[in-house]
Amino acid sequence: MSYVVTIDGPAGAGKSSVAKRAARELGIKYLDTGAIYRAIALILAKSEISPDNEEFLREALSEVRIELRDNSVLVNDFDVSGEIRTPEVDELASVYSALPVVRSALLGLQQDQEKYGSIIAEGRDVGSVVFPDAKVKFFLTASPEARAKRRYLERISKGKDANYDEILAAIKHRDDNDSKRKTAPLTVPEGAIYLDTSDMTEDEAVKFIVDRVNEALTTK
Ligand code: C5P
Repeated sequence: MSYVVTIDGPAGAGKSSVAKRAARELGIKYLDTGAIYRAIALILAKSEISPDNEEFLREALSEVRIELRDNSVLVNDFDVSGEIRTPEVDELASVYSALPVVRSALLGLQQDQEKYGSIIAEGRDVGSVVFPDAKVKFFLTASPEARAKRRYLERISKGKDANYDEILAAIKHRDDNDSKRKTAPLTVPEGAIYLDTSDMTEDEAVKFIVDRVNEALTTK
């Protein structure tokens, strides 16, 4: 029987790396829902469709084709996987993803992924809205300072420019946008296991998740 595991949480809590590694250890697929929101935000911004123009948004969303491959996201056959990982797209995704018209257009695509086997889905509302009946739900978080420090070190290790104060301010701003929006705000889903990783290593967080999932698979 296939099953769904969800991991929700704020930006920079380490969800992606933890979810990817846990998926590998459990031998199931990883679904990065943030990448879908990033890809759609990028294409809408490039097409100069204002977040305020619902009619144009609806039309554009009905025409755009998003395809998920193992490690890439394609929009209308173009691989945008690299282009969506910039601070500009961080902000664009946060703006467009607050719109109900965008969220409802992307719901089916996310839910469809369950058809192809067991998955770990990672995002902001995967345990509450997308997969409310998931087998195990997690809410992964860390203090804004711990998250900013991780982002800072990640950028430095990739040889990119980084400014800790700017990163911290951007994280707080995104937290604010994601948790105050009217549609699908970032919340702890009902029944989710709450995990604060501020003082945990990535290995410890992965182990925690894999152990809880294995327990749920054997006891339920
Ligand atoms: O997780 P990631 O940082 O890639 O997500 C980018 C943005 O997309 C988030 O800040 C959030 O605004 C939005 N998002 C969302 N719902 C999801 C996943 C991401 O609103 N399930």
